[in-house]
Amino acid sequence: MHHRTQTPRRTDVGKLPPYKTHRHTLYGQQEGHCAGCKHHFPLRNLTVDHIVAKSKGGTDHIDNLQLLCGACNSMKGTISQAAFHAKLTKQGLR
Ligand SMILES: [Zn+2]
Repeated sequence: MHHRTQTPRRTDVGKLPPYKTHRHTLYGQQEGHCAGCKHHFPLRNLTVDHIVAKSKGGTDHIDNLQLLCGACNSMKGTISQAAFHAKLTKQGLR
């Protein structure tokens, strides 16, 4: 038996990968459609958005991420997903 007390403890285990790495997966899941207005966009025009803003306790987990087009992203800002959807409905975008 070896004593492993000298092995430094990794503190990054269980840490989530950078959220931007999910871009392509999300693009596949959403089939290229913006999660807000539902229009189709090329991947380069979609940005990864946190459904629950990180400032409000949201995580980088893929379940908390969605792709939005530039217009929707700026419309959402840091408001909640529900408020964002209400805004889209009001503007006839969904
Ligand atoms: Zn959009």
